[in-house]
Amino acid sequence: MHSENSSHIVNTREMLIKAQKEHYAVPAFNIHNLETVQVVVETAAEWRSPVILAGTPGTFEYAGGDYLVAIVETAARKHDIPIALHLDHFESFEAIKTYLDMGVRSCMIDASHEPFEENVRIVKEVVDYAHRLGASVEAELGRLGGVEDDLIVDEKDARYTNPKQAKEFVARTGIDSLAVAIGTAHGLYKGEPKIDLERLSAIRQEVSVPLVLHGASDVPSPIVQETIRRGICKVNIATDLKIPFADAVKQYFAEHPDANDPRKYLTPGKEAMKKVVIEKIKMCGSHGKA
Ligand SMILES: [Zn+2]
Repeated sequence: MHSENSSHIVNTREMLIKAQKEHYAVPAFNIHNLETVQVVVETAAEWRSPVILAGTPGTFEYAGGDYLVAIVETAARKHDIPIALHLDHFESFEAIKTYLDMGVRSCMIDASHEPFEENVRIVKEVVDYAHRLGASVEAELGRLGGVEDDLIVDEKDARYTNPKQAKEFVARTGIDSLAVAIGTAHGLYKGEPKIDLERLSAIRQEVSVPLVLHGASDVPSPIVQETIRRGICKVNIATDLKIPFADAVKQYFAEHPDANDPRKYLTPGKEAMKKVVIEKIKMCGSHGKA
């Protein structure tokens, strides 16, 4: 039973393990402010989907970790679905510690740019701290950023997640979920995305923790759904949310050049974002799972 003071914000461990067992994924939406939190949470509640609200270091600096925790805590009290607040692509133990101490219960430590041993060391330090607080940890092996379609095989092997190494990485760090590099890239693709599905299946054979897909904006939904069938339990959605929000607000100003009421000009942005949230929940198969 919750006391008045206990938090309603959950970690991501149980929700991802449930998703893994029942073969769907939990969508992780990058939020930035009150409006984006409201749209994501209200839509997830309508569709009975567990949901992860993710913020990058830039978002946490912009909004303030204490504000974000308070807003998400309010959302989690109002709605009877699992709601997690997640630190996305954090690279510093100190920053993670700061926000976990404020009440965040899920984090990604991204030391994937470091050599393997250093990646293990940094991730282990975060896991030791986070687990003491009941927080869950995601880490990445392999590189996502700037991955090109025309990489030659040697480069591809070096940058994509190696299944055997993934097994060792999970065992030595004790992480709760693993972000895999299988050909997705952050932002929007210039060409046709080529996702290495065979590699994903090989990773899943070696690794028992839930797997996470980053950089899936612009990957066609049927391909994302195939990755979910092959073991992806969390799909990150950032760029796909920002663009429709901004476009709708731009459109509003084009039609109402004298507008100055944020309650009016942000509303079309929220409505446009809501449509994408529904699409992504359906893509992930998480509706009705809360
Ligand atoms: Zn990412």
